[in-house]
Amino acid sequence: MNTQKLTIVIPAYNEEEILVNSVHRLIDIEDQIAAKEAQGLQGIRADILIVDDGSKDRTWELVEQLHQENSRVKGLRFSRNFGHQPALIAGLNEAVKTADMLVTIDADLQDDPDKIPEMVELYAGGDDIVYGVRNNRDSDSWFKRTTAQGYYRTLHMLGVELVPNHADFRLMSKRAVQTLLDYPERNMFIRGIIPKLGFKTGRVEYKRTPRMAGESKYPLKKMIAFAWDGITSLTIAPVRLILILGTIACLLAMGMVAYAVILKILGLTVHGWSSLMVSMWFMGGVQLISLGVIGEYIGKLTTEVKDRPRYTIQTILE
Ligand code: UDP
Ligand code: MG
Repeated sequence: MNTQKLTIVIPAYNEEEILVNSVHRLIDIEDQIAAKEAQGLQGIRADILIVDDGSKDRTWELVEQLHQENSRVKGLRFSRNFGHQPALIAGLNEAVKTADMLVTIDADLQDDPDKIPEMVELYAGGDDIVYGVRNNRDSDSWFKRTTAQGYYRTLHMLGVELVPNHADFRLMSKRAVQTLLDYPERNMFIRGIIPKLGFKTGRVEYKRTPRMAGESKYPLKKMIAFAWDGITSLTIAPVRLILILGTIACLLAMGMVAYAVILKILGLTVHGWSSLMVSMWFMGGVQLISLGVIGEYIGKLTTEVKDRPRYTIQTILE
């Protein structure tokens, strides 16, 4: 095997409390990987690319400091906060220029970085994509676990294929990343696209640990927005559901007509007040929800058509 290069891509938003520790730990792991010549992994060079997603704390200062200490640490700084997914895309886009395999991992190392050597071995064995899969989420709150589970189920019902309990901790080969970057959508829900890429895939399982320091950068509001983005960017099933709902409502309405006619014949017309109110509110509700869902897709279309850049890079440290 010729020399291969591994790049670990880390999105970081306000991670001053944790970044230095995490990077040191990842450098250690990379050194272990490089030292593992015996197992057919000879000649691995490795570096780290931190994408500072417009942090407001000292994150970028720390990136510069880490880069000074060790030129294997590279950095990329956004002009403002664009979000976790754009940060990942930017990191992959930059790193794929030189790397043969790329690993993405959160800055808080909640996803076990000690599994990276295993991922690299699977890559050496021919896998293009290696998923990190959580086999234990005890460290996440009950709320997060339950909502995540419900969410994956819903997506599954809507016909979206996702790898359960996998987030954005994964290894990808150069060609897998290049294929991913060929997907032009502005609003990309990366973990929903990866299973569409094809290629040979593998998985490593790990236990998700609690955040060592700092707090989650995904408050509830951001989580909901992210989840909704996932659904609407991966499937048009909600629009189809509207059609079904509309059809059911129409059938019900026909029943109502028949009912009203019978009442009329029997001379009991005043009686209809409650059914009138119920159906009016029901139909109004169905229509408003439908409009909302359609509006959401039109909104998405508008974003895609505008074709604005996904992110703006302010500085690159290489
Ligand atoms: N992150 C980011 N931009 C954001 C929010 C989060 O780059 O707008 C990064 C964050 O620094 C971390 C990763 O995305 O490296 C995952 O965030 P976090 O650990 O807070 O999410 P959680 O594990 O709580 O779901
Ligand atoms: Mg985290």
